Amino acid sequence: MTLWTAAEIADATGGTASAAFSVEGVAFDSREVGPSDLFVALKGDATDGHRFLAQAFAQGASGALVSEDADGPNVRVDDSFAALEDLARAARSRTAATVIGVTGSVGKTSAKEALFAALDRSMRGSFPGTVHRSVKSYNNHTGVPLSLARMPRGTRAAVLEMGMNHPGELAHLTRLVRPHIAVVTAIAPAHTEFFADEAAIADAKGEIFQGLEPGGAAIIPFDSPHRDRLIAAAQPHAGRIVTFGTGKDADVRAVEAIRLPTGASFVTARLGPRELSFTLSQPGAHWVSNALAVLAAVDAAGADLGLAGLALAELGGLAGRGARFLARVGGGEALVIDESYNANPASMRATLAVLAEEPGRHIAVLGEMRELGEDSARYHAGLADAVMAARVETALLVGEAMTPLAGVLEKTVRVVHVPDTARAIEGLRDLLSPGDAVLIKGSNGVGLSRLVAALRGQ
Ligand code: ATP
Ligand code: MG
Repeated sequence: MTLWTAAEIADATGGTASAAFSVEGVAFDSREVGPSDLFVALKGDATDGHRFLAQAFAQGASGALVSEDADGPNVRVDDSFAALEDLARAARSRTAATVIGVTGSVGKTSAKEALFAALDRSMRGSFPGTVHRSVKSYNNHTGVPLSLARMPRGTRAAVLEMGMNHPGELAHLTRLVRPHIAVVTAIAPAHTEFFADEAAIADAKGEIFQGLEPGGAAIIPFDSPHRDRLIAAAQPHAGRIVTFGTGKDADVRAVEAIRLPTGASFVTARLGPRELSFTLSQPGAHWVSNALAVLAAVDAAGADLGLAGLALAELGGLAGRGARFLARVGGGEALVIDESYNANPASMRATLAVLAEEPGRHIAVLGEMRELGEDSARYHAGLADAVMAARVETALLVGEAMTPLAGVLEKTVRVVHVPDTARAIEGLRDLLSPGDAVLIKGSNGVGLSRLVAALRGQ
């Protein structure tokens, strides 16, 4: 289906079309360009998209958005990044969709995917329509406009992940997104390099509310120590503030969450006078929290809560963010929890708490946590109590920044500390026995996904 015609692109961006063409998708990463896409040639510090124009057309692009003379059908503008934002604004303006922005220090992609599944399920039943979402973690100054520019005109609901690592970024992005519903999943030390403290992070996340449409809903984590800051940030902009959590005064509250033998949770939630029980396929208290945020957003969107609950039962584990599988070890099998995609103190604790509940001997393969700035050593050492609470028998620690944790743990836990993932892969097989439960978690840059692939036998 046509997403944009050349004339529409020229109109939105103030550019000039070299020819008539139409596109079905948008991409700025030349590796991701597919048939019928618009290739946006962005100029970055390190690279210039214009160098990949020929490749983009060879991969089937129908047109390009360029800021230089170029071969092939294109729309020529002065600044292709500004033009991408213009396209995002035009996409946002031409749709009648309910738009939901999701931010937070942790849980953005998890909540975004769960919310997509819930809306998709509930809207299919009540009124058919397209539910749109950001792909992957495309949540920054280029990812958010890209996700908007990809939104089909007939979209009924859109879920957009919005991230930041500097103050002011969300204030800008939220004015592009203009959400009807803005969700903050959690505030925690993550991407902290550019912030003085957690309160400053809360303030920067609270910027999301500045772009709320009139009468829009702000969805805020009740149990966060920064709740009041977030509420204060939302008050001038939100028509409605909805808190979610376990505290008894939360608007959307988990009154019960029981761990089932499969690792799933059976959750009973209360939304005002309504009560909803559902099975949540993904284990852990952090997922209960994400699920409550999802239900709050589904309710604010006027979608069907019962069907959303069914979607939460069907969620599959996301690769690198909690996917589970059995790996063959020494004539038997070990349970692997793949959390290789990212790590910060909050998500480390959340997933060590999941490991704590698993049967069998507990092995933790923990890669260093990056982007933590000058408090890095303290944050690493500070994981010791969570590792011990998870009754970890062996901790395989990966990376230099793990040294402070190794130092504290060595007294109580068997510690193997290696400099990199290659060494971890060499050492791991010898550490595993059938029946073990293995948590694999570290910042993406540590490359523990390669260790996961090795365990999958790839
Ligand atoms: P990024 O900033 O990299 O885009 P994100 O905010 O999208 O991260 P997710 O990818 O959803 O975060 O989750 C990353 C990890 O954080 C998960 O694998 C899980 O371990 C953990 N996590 C998810 N939700 C929560 C939560 N509500 N609280 C704490 N940890 C969480
Ligand atoms: Mg993400």
